[in-house]
Amino acid sequence: MNPTDILMHRGWRNDSFWTHPWIYRTFLKRIPVFFDTRALIKSQYWQRTMHDSLAAQKIRRTAEHAAHIPLWENVMRENEIRPEDLSIDSLATLPIISKKTFASLSPEQYCDMRRARQSVYDHTSGSTGRPLNFWFDWMSELRSFAITERIMRSVGTARLPVVYMRSRYRQGFTFRKHIWFFLRGFGSVQYRLRDLLDIGKRLHGKFILYGYTSSVVEVARQLRDAEESMPVAAVMATGENISPTSRALVEETLSSDFRMVYASREAGWLAFECEYKTMHINEEWAYIEIVDSEGKRIPDGEEGRIIVTCFEARAMPLIRYDIGDRGVRNRSTCACKRTLDTLHMSGREAEYIRFSNGYVVSLLDISAAVDSFAGAVQQFQIILRGEADFLIRVIPGPLFDEVLDTLSELLTRTIHPSAQISWEKVESISEAESGKARYFIRETTNTHADI
Ligand SMILES: [Zn+2]
Repeated sequence: MNPTDILMHRGWRNDSFWTHPWIYRTFLKRIPVFFDTRALIKSQYWQRTMHDSLAAQKIRRTAEHAAHIPLWENVMRENEIRPEDLSIDSLATLPIISKKTFASLSPEQYCDMRRARQSVYDHTSGSTGRPLNFWFDWMSELRSFAITERIMRSVGTARLPVVYMRSRYRQGFTFRKHIWFFLRGFGSVQYRLRDLLDIGKRLHGKFILYGYTSSVVEVARQLRDAEESMPVAAVMATGENISPTSRALVEETLSSDFRMVYASREAGWLAFECEYKTMHINEEWAYIEIVDSEGKRIPDGEEGRIIVTCFEARAMPLIRYDIGDRGVRNRSTCACKRTLDTLHMSGREAEYIRFSNGYVVSLLDISAAVDSFAGAVQQFQIILRGEADFLIRVIPGPLFDEVLDTLSELLTRTIHPSAQISWEKVESISEAESGKARYFIRETTNTHADI
C-alpha cells in the first residue's frame, strides 16, 4: 500500500466513506486510523522531495475544498489565484488571516455549513485573549488520531495508556486507553495529587502523562516534596515552553522522558519533540511558514511569526492562519533520521502571577477559565492592578451578561479566593506592535506579583 495514497485519501481511503455516520459512530473508524498511522510512521523518514510534493498536493486540495466557501472564494478571486494553481510558492501571496478575521464574519462566510453536521463545535482562545469558535470535522478528527498516535509511538512502541490533565475534554486525541483527569489549573495540582496517584495505581503499569507544561512541572514539584513517585513512562506537555531546569526536574522526579508537543485546539497537533528533543513539524498535517512583521515569508533559519495552513480542516479551512506564536523553521539534520522539518519555538513562555502567600496562578489557566463559556467574550485583556486586584477588559459576546456571575465565580476560584475582579466592557482592545493581541498587562509594581 502506497503511503502517499493513504495520506491523500485516494482509493479505498476515502473520507466520505469513513466519515459516514454509520461507520464513523462505530469501532470501524479504527480501520482508517490504523492505516493512516502506518503511513505516517513511514513518511516521517521520507526523502525531502516527497514531503515537498505531498505538501504541494495537499495545499492544492485544501484550496479546492475551500474555494466554494465565501471567504475563500473572495480571497482567491481578489488575488487572482485559481485553487488548482495554488502551490507552496504562490501560497505566500495570499493574505494572512487571524482570529480577528473570523470574529468580523458570520460562520456562513468561513464555514462549509454542510459539513458542520459532521463536526464538533469547539472554542479556544489559547494565549491570545481572543476566543475563536470553530468546527472540527470528523475527517480531520480521523487524521488527528493517527497524528497523535505517531507522536506517542515516538516515545516507545508499547501501547501505554494516557492520562491527560485538562479542564476540558479534547477531541481527536487518541484511541488508546485514556483517562481524562480534570484539572482546572496548575494551582489545583496540590489538592489533586492523591487522586492522580490513585489513577497511577489503578492502571497497574506505566502510562503517558499529558498536560499543560505548567501543570506537569507542578506535578513533578509536588511529587518531589511529598517524596512520592508515579509509574510515568513519558511526559508530553503542551501550551508553554519549558526551561531547562524545569525539564530536568520533571525527568528526574518522574524518571521519564519529557517531550514538548506543539498543538492548538483549532489547528491540531503541529509539531512534536523526538527522542533527541528536536521539534519536528507534522508536515503531512499542516504547512508551516515563518513570516516577518509585515507578513512576508522569510527563509529557513530566521525567526518570525508562525503561519499555519491546515490540510485536513474541511468544515472550517485554515489557510495562512496566524496562530499567534513565533519560531524558526529549519531543515532536519536530526540524529533520529526523521526528515520532517524542524521548528524552534520562541513564544509561549509560561507566565505566572505570584501572590505574597506563595500561591501562584498561570495565565494560561485564566485563559482556559474564560474559555469555559462559548459566546460570552469576543476578546479579553487582563490587567493586574495590585496584588490581587484584577481588571478584565472585555469585548462582550451575546451571552456575556447572562454568564457574568458564573464566570466571575469561576475566575475567582481559578485565580485566588481573595482576588478582586472587576470588569470593563470596551469596544476595542489595543494590540502589541507585532499585531499579537496583548492579553495581559501588569500595572502593579508590587514586588510579590511578578513573573
Ligand atoms: Zn529528531
